[in-house]
Amino acid sequence: MPHSNKIRVLLIDDDEDDFIITRDTIDEIPGRNYVLEWTASFGEALELIKQEKHDVYLVDFRLGAHDGLELISQAVEGGSLAPFILLTGQSDRETDEKAMRVGASDYLVKGTFDPFSLERSIRYSVEHAKSMAEIHKLNSELEQRVDERTRELGEAVKKLEETNRSLYEAQVEIRKALQKEKELHELKSRFVTIASHEFRTPLSTVLSSASLIGKYKATEDDEKRQKHVERIKSAVSNLTTILNDFLSISRIEEGKIYNVPTTFDLKDFTAEIVDEMQGLVKIGQKIHYQHSGPETIVTLDKQLLKNIILNLLSNASKYSGEGKQIYIDTAVNSTINLSVKDEGIGIPDADKVHLFTPFFRAQNVTNIQGTGLGLNIVNRYVDIMDGSLTYESELNEGTTFRITFPIHPITA
Ligand code: ATP
Ligand code: MG
Repeated sequence: MPHSNKIRVLLIDDDEDDFIITRDTIDEIPGRNYVLEWTASFGEALELIKQEKHDVYLVDFRLGAHDGLELISQAVEGGSLAPFILLTGQSDRETDEKAMRVGASDYLVKGTFDPFSLERSIRYSVEHAKSMAEIHKLNSELEQRVDERTRELGEAVKKLEETNRSLYEAQVEIRKALQKEKELHELKSRFVTIASHEFRTPLSTVLSSASLIGKYKATEDDEKRQKHVERIKSAVSNLTTILNDFLSISRIEEGKIYNVPTTFDLKDFTAEIVDEMQGLVKIGQKIHYQHSGPETIVTLDKQLLKNIILNLLSNASKYSGEGKQIYIDTAVNSTINLSVKDEGIGIPDADKVHLFTPFFRAQNVTNIQGTGLGLNIVNRYVDIMDGSLTYESELNEGTTFRITFPIHPITA
């Protein structure tokens, strides 16, 4: 906006007569507070409007090839906030409305306005434009403040979300820890119950056999004595197995079992274990071992693997009758594969879901000895070795356990 005290008026009109008339009218305004400039060119007018040297524009409706409405709308689109007063040759409501719509602040009919009405229109328009500029400024300040607040709010929301997320994560962690604690507690209490029960049977065998041995004093009782010595041995060996299983599970629980792979010949290794077990199976049972394919070298944790094989073979023998055959197969392809198959009692469908739960024993085991820990240990060892275990079982037909290990082990 210009800074002089006088109000600078630009007349945009292609008719010089109009300029002279307007100038005379303005000159008659008391106080002579106005400076009038004139341009007849549409283009120049737009340029001058851009320079913001004037306080108010009087725009003729007719401007050669263009018209005043066009000029006003282009100027307003270009961002001008100055007041435009449209001058027309005749009074008509439609032009008036159009003028207002494109952004003119007033509308005067040529030849009808006197110095007083011109002065009044200019004064009102200038005041109105000032108010509009003020509103515009306030609006943009407001917009800026809203933007700032929105940004601040956005940041606050983001921080809240972060806090929320970490709280949620903490909650998940705590829940996990609690769940683990609960499981451990349940396991411990089951341990105590089962241990007292499992230990009582072999211990009472030891006790009764020991006291009977004390009674068989004669030489001819040697056979009976020997029988009870064997019973004691077997009971003690049972106790040792149970204790070892307990120890294994508690070491797994404590995270103390590590996968330590070494490279060895799987075929030789398995054959040795099978030899070891061959002497421990029931009468007429035989373990058949077969390795398929030329590749025999693997990288696995030997100790964990041996434990797995022993457990599966011992189950195969234990849950099969005398004279039944047991098959163990190994192969090394894109994975390392091991399967143990028996012709035993099988696992009832209803029991399958619980098979790997510690202390679980299927309902068809009747009086076959066992603690229900072996498969839990097998399953966890397979897991530690990054392998996977599946099985299929048909009641009274037999059971097959299959284990797959990756060729390249991960170490922990
Ligand atoms: P132990 O802890 O002495 O091994 P267990 O043999 O009873 O005792 P797991 O080896 O964990 O325990 O087996 C759990 C249950 O799964 C067994 O009690 C039995 O019911 C069933 N089971 C396991 N292997 C076989 C199999 N080869 N044939 C039939 N049932 C089986
Ligand atoms: Mg077992």
